[in-house]
Amino acid sequence: MMRSAFVESVVVSVTFSLCWAMVGRGAPAVEGQDFVERARRIHAETIGVDSHIDTLQRVLNGKENISRRTGRGHVDLPRLRDAGMRAPFFALYVPTYYKGSEAVRRTLQLRDAMQSLLDAHPDQIELALSASDVERIAKTGKIAAVLTIESGHAIADNLAVLRMYHLLGVRSMTLTHFRNTNWADSSTDKPEHNGLTDFGREVVREMNRIGMIVDISHVSDKTFYDTLAVTSKPVIASHSSCRALTDVPRNMTDDMIKALGKNGGVIGINFGAGFLSQKEVEAARRNFAARAAVDPGLTGRALDEFATKDYLDTYSMMKPNLATIRDAVAHIDHVVKLVGVDHVGIGSDWDGISSVPAGLEDVSQMPLLTAALLERGYSEQDAKKILTGNFLRVMRQVIGR
Ligand SMILES: [Zn+2]
Repeated sequence: MMRSAFVESVVVSVTFSLCWAMVGRGAPAVEGQDFVERARRIHAETIGVDSHIDTLQRVLNGKENISRRTGRGHVDLPRLRDAGMRAPFFALYVPTYYKGSEAVRRTLQLRDAMQSLLDAHPDQIELALSASDVERIAKTGKIAAVLTIESGHAIADNLAVLRMYHLLGVRSMTLTHFRNTNWADSSTDKPEHNGLTDFGREVVREMNRIGMIVDISHVSDKTFYDTLAVTSKPVIASHSSCRALTDVPRNMTDDMIKALGKNGGVIGINFGAGFLSQKEVEAARRNFAARAAVDPGLTGRALDEFATKDYLDTYSMMKPNLATIRDAVAHIDHVVKLVGVDHVGIGSDWDGISSVPAGLEDVSQMPLLTAALLERGYSEQDAKKILTGNFLRVMRQVIGR
């Protein structure tokens, strides 16, 4: 039987510690091993929420069967179980080059791909519509799938479409992606609306009313503040990191993180190298600009074929980079120093990022991140808030159960 990547990583970590022991640093070696053991236990005990993964793109575009170990990408159901990350938010990600009703069609294709997975493997995965669903499903050992839409252009400027997505089980939505919508400015496009339009404010209010979490990852700073001014519920940044450490517009400034904390919201730290390491900023900015510019001007099947190739070409191979697992810890730490431990979580962006940090190459490595937090002095209770409790709290507050 093949060893899982997690077992491999523990072996590497323990071997590394033993090497130190052999050169006369016995105490840190024992502690290092202890942190990994404790982290593994924490991941076995808690649920593990990740507020953004793009794995459905591999299901739809790559026709991959993620109920088995795929040996590709960052996530499959066995690796989620091994890692103790049982409640991922599966993104129905629609590129912005899908416009109007085409974006609705693409969203439904992704929802359908999710349904096929749910129908084929009811023993492994179940749709979660609330925090209590997440807890009930995770207890059975299954993956609790939360559905999120990326991004707001998928409602085709129509609140009826938004409400029907909610009926289909969608429980959060980013307001924009790399381009502005017709009602909200993006962080990676030219300002067009000075933040949210009046209709954008209506979208936020309607999401509050029906119990759908407003996700401000990808929006411009002005859209973020406009959203906070109108929302009556906590919001999330499902896959962003800290701009003070890595200066890209997709990350949040310290002031934004403080405002998010006051709102009761949570930022899920994005593991893309361009989000985590200042050394990767230039490459990240070029990448955002290139992604935002993609617009084939197609419709129908030709557009779907383009989207499939576009995803596979962009995300099937990881690019070399200088980020490490320590950078992910630094971003978590930065949020905690600003607003405390109740407002940070994990928003990996697995299968939607083209470069991953050393030591955090896929979801199976997650316990090593927790081990690093413990080593840095975080309590087990704090680690569980970051892994699970904070996002479940927001789900409860917005969805109502
Ligand atoms: Zn995104």
